[in-house]
Amino acid sequence: MIKGRFAPSPTGRMHLGNIASALLSWLSARAQGGAWLLRIEDLDPQRSKREYSRIIEDDLHWLGLDWDEGGLDGRGDAGPYSQSRRGDIYARYLELINATGYTYPCRCTRAEIMATQAPHQSDGRIVYGGRCRPAVLPAFGADFDGASTRICVPDSIISFDDGLYGPQHFNLAREVGDFILRRADGAWAYQLAVVVDDALMGVSEVVRGSDLLLSAAQQIYLYRLLGLEPPRFAHVPLLCNAEGRRLSKRDGSLSMEHLRATMTAPQIIGRLAALLGLLPEPTEITAAELIPDFSWQKIKPDRTLSIK
Ligand code: GLU
Repeated sequence: MIKGRFAPSPTGRMHLGNIASALLSWLSARAQGGAWLLRIEDLDPQRSKREYSRIIEDDLHWLGLDWDEGGLDGRGDAGPYSQSRRGDIYARYLELINATGYTYPCRCTRAEIMATQAPHQSDGRIVYGGRCRPAVLPAFGADFDGASTRICVPDSIISFDDGLYGPQHFNLAREVGDFILRRADGAWAYQLAVVVDDALMGVSEVVRGSDLLLSAAQQIYLYRLLGLEPPRFAHVPLLCNAEGRRLSKRDGSLSMEHLRATMTAPQIIGRLAALLGLLPEPTEITAAELIPDFSWQKIKPDRTLSIK
């Protein structure tokens, strides 16, 4: 049975873009008779609040998106389902990766990284220039104390077939450089946590925003290093506001708070479904009513969609 998931970061109320990812992930899982899991991605202790997790759950219920596993009450046998409680599991998997000899301690400051980074990416992404990378690899026995842990990436192409955008090819050395698995302060990096979690939780289909296409390549690389089977990835268009900027938690009128105060759940679902190409025009409809006719073929493979 396929298993999909939604993995929100509880750093604020959901907006229409988050709901689009949740809806498509849920529909895809349900249309295949699969299960759906809710994981709380609260790795950032400063920004994550339990109260937001509770509200996200309430909003998902209200929208008619139910889950079989996970969430705050942690139903299921692959828990805990909150990343903040999975540190010992991440530590075990980091050890396995360290045993390959392709990780190394990095003590670069942000200023040093900025000064030595590889050619600047147009979207402001930082490509680590490899300042702390050992001259000979694999390298063993390094001292990681007080340092962040970076994984060496190959200067070769990682390819995968995205469920919406089709064949994807990324050269991690050029696009991101060696990336962090654990920060110097001990915080776990999203890339490691998400791979370990999706693998151990049996997730077979990952549906999320198209801003994470490159992350999928980083994650596939980690799956390979760990000898684990990657899930099927399907990335979905990001929603942009009227000014063409990607929706953020600051776009008040498209946040769940405002949407719930002004529209019914079937109105919101119908509007989103039309925007995504699942309906010819906005009609009031429940999420469950969309299951029988759901097909990835209907979704427009644009990277972004603007909301007028
Ligand atoms: N926690 C991430 C977010 O809320 C999603 C990551 C993922 O789906 O892999 O943006």
